[in-house]
Amino acid sequence: MSIDPPAGLRPETLAVAFGYDPQSASGSVKPPIYMTSTFVYPSAQHARDVHQAFFDGTGPLAGAEQHIYARLGHPGLDILEARLAAIDGAEAAVAYSSGMAAHSSIALAFLRPGDSVLHGRPIYGGVDMLYNSVMPQYGCHAAAYLDGTDEAAVHAAADQAMAQGPLKLIIAETPANPTAAIIDLDLMVRLADKIGERQEHRPLVVVDNTLLGPFAQRPIKQGVDLCMTSLTKYCGGHSDLLAGGISGRHGLIDPLKAMRTTWGNHLDPYTAWLVTRSLESVHVRTERAMSNARTVAEFLRDHPKVVGVTYLGFLPEGSRQRAVYDRQCMAAGSTFSFHLGGGEADAFRMLDQLRLLKLAVSLGGSETLICHSASTTHYALSPGQRLEGGITDGTMRLSVGLEHVDDLIADLAQALEAV
Ligand SMILES: *Cc1c(COP(=O)(O)O)cnc(C)c1O
Repeated sequence: MSIDPPAGLRPETLAVAFGYDPQSASGSVKPPIYMTSTFVYPSAQHARDVHQAFFDGTGPLAGAEQHIYARLGHPGLDILEARLAAIDGAEAAVAYSSGMAAHSSIALAFLRPGDSVLHGRPIYGGVDMLYNSVMPQYGCHAAAYLDGTDEAAVHAAADQAMAQGPLKLIIAETPANPTAAIIDLDLMVRLADKIGERQEHRPLVVVDNTLLGPFAQRPIKQGVDLCMTSLTKYCGGHSDLLAGGISGRHGLIDPLKAMRTTWGNHLDPYTAWLVTRSLESVHVRTERAMSNARTVAEFLRDHPKVVGVTYLGFLPEGSRQRAVYDRQCMAAGSTFSFHLGGGEADAFRMLDQLRLLKLAVSLGGSETLICHSASTTHYALSPGQRLEGGITDGTMRLSVGLEHVDDLIADLAQALEAV
């Protein structure tokens, strides 16, 4: 579907109702869940026209909202994708069965044997594995930069990537997790333009916007090509589903949708409905989670047993990272880390003492989650690699949720007494 959102409406407004017409479903205020795998044609000629429109983009039904079989597309996907595109400020969007399904579809759609990829580090473990373990088996290469605000360092890494093959993708996950390192998206767009003059194809700039989400960082506005979001996290927001989305211009999203038909990794009708419903409230949920997170971060910063807090809101004034943060981010998010002075034993004692906070990986749900980074999310890294990313044996990642902040602080306070 490619109906443009009404001009002048803000993303918060579009999140509530855009992309669904109650007249299409007996006046139902909320969209129904279209639980079907296939769709009936009113006539044999209509069936032919639908297929012509889908495969050739021509004929009497070209551009019309029509369905054939749910793997190719279904009404729940149309609604979700229209809404996600509107919220992200993009022409179009495509939704997948998980965030990693979205990432791997980008890799398969835009890379060919011999091509190279540039990405920041640290980056989500699954994405690191995709570009450094899986795609090399298809003849693709990767190079990484460590400081995404350092123009010279990023250019050097890009040269390293280009020495291995044409650079096709520039991947930026910002802010990084759990280090809160920021990548300058304006710098990435400038870099792509420059590289476009040196080789046949301008590389695409792909941003993983999962950590801050569509209401605290707006990459499409900054000129990036594709904005990827794990909808599993803040957008889904209740730790009860997996989904992924990508927004961008038609020229990039349409081929991704066509290929999704062959990969078979579309989002199913029920989960699409759940995500659509969750998108209505993501801005208020994240606002509260972020204000809770600031209060918890301040409590931890002042606690004698905590040696450090890695929280975007505490980036030092005058630093390069701070300048990019002020330009690029509208809020500090609600996932951050803090560090205990002792080792694993101290950290485990504290974690086992918690009563309210839940010990689990993932982030962006309504409940507060905590995990010990070295033994869980970053288990597969060597101690040296972990230290490079600022992760010690006393590092804990917190995803602050929607509980009353005083209850969260009381639980952390009593657990810290065990240290
Ligand atoms: C969780 C996550 C992903 C992967 O998303 P899934 O929905 O779990 O597949 C990708 N990037 C980031 C930053 C994430 O936090």
